[in-house]
Amino acid sequence: MPEATLKDILSEHTKEGELYLKLPNSWVECFACGHRCKVPPDKDGICKVRFNRHGILFVPYGYVSGIAIDPIEKKPFFHAYPGSRTLSFGMLGCDYHCSFCQNWNISQSLRDLHANSSIQEIHGEEIIRLAVQNKVPIITSTYNEPLITSEWAAEVFKLAKQTGFITSYVSNGNATPEVLDYLQPWIDLYKVDLKSFHQKAYGQMGGVLQNVLDTIESLYKRGKWVEVVTLIIPGMNDSNEELTDIARFIQSISPDIPWHVTAYHQDYKMTVEDFTPVATLIRAADIGYHEGLHFVYTGNCPGLTRNYENTYCYSCNEILIERRGFQILRNRISNGTCFHCKTKIAGRWI
Ligand code: SF4
Repeated sequence: MPEATLKDILSEHTKEGELYLKLPNSWVECFACGHRCKVPPDKDGICKVRFNRHGILFVPYGYVSGIAIDPIEKKPFFHAYPGSRTLSFGMLGCDYHCSFCQNWNISQSLRDLHANSSIQEIHGEEIIRLAVQNKVPIITSTYNEPLITSEWAAEVFKLAKQTGFITSYVSNGNATPEVLDYLQPWIDLYKVDLKSFHQKAYGQMGGVLQNVLDTIESLYKRGKWVEVVTLIIPGMNDSNEELTDIARFIQSISPDIPWHVTAYHQDYKMTVEDFTPVATLIRAADIGYHEGLHFVYTGNCPGLTRNYENTYCYSCNEILIERRGFQILRNRISNGTCFHCKTKIAGRWI
């Protein structure tokens, strides 16, 4: 008997999806992500982990590719329960194929023969039990793109809500209104990557810029706590013009949305100069503040970017949260306000 492939194994860890429509002649239309694949019988969607069998869309279910306890700052959320830990779980696959992916073993597992990943069968109840045992207040769907595995995340999050957990997504933001409606009751915090402000760059990753912009706006209007991350890649998205466009867009939704500008390091197929210079991160952060954002943070270079890891009151300029990397050194936010001038600081505070 030939050994089962990863594709075979994943096919056995599925159930019928909820985020799709049946079309004539056994086609289906999936709307878990912005690709809205119309999938003929016996074919896969672009993500390769959702597939049509005899006119039914099967979707990932009942496994994780990884599960770990992380600081919430690692996701990164800087304005949500600072200093808390989250139980993070992920599945396999992605709707993008970014050449610089820092999680490519997981995200590209069915596209790239060199990707090395495996899965562990698990029930939603076991994930909750692990979170309870480890006394974490937050459960996060991350590592792969959670939108494409939303039925599984929703199942876990429904159980999580019964037990009083906070829930979060770490996502590329290629959503649809339907998937955001579906997740609305179950999700509290949402991190979106805004990787570029040019459709050409998004096209190379397999994405659509406008979908991401719409997602950020929609999440904000839905009352979710949103933080935006831009991985700054030298030569790709580090011009003053592009950084200004990104900052202006975020500011137009709300100056209270934190913007993380994080350092790239060589990974996967992207081999441009290694590590984003610290000066570039500081320039990006300065642009964010100049465009009126209240909270801009540098990432992936702890201790190297002056005070750009800290939270300051945008009204009186007092230091509110002092950080180094994922560590909270001091937190002076009191009842969601600046301890000094009482200005309300946007976020979800303990
Ligand atoms: S999740 Fe996205 S990529 Fe995957 S099948 Fe659905 S629409 Fe296509």
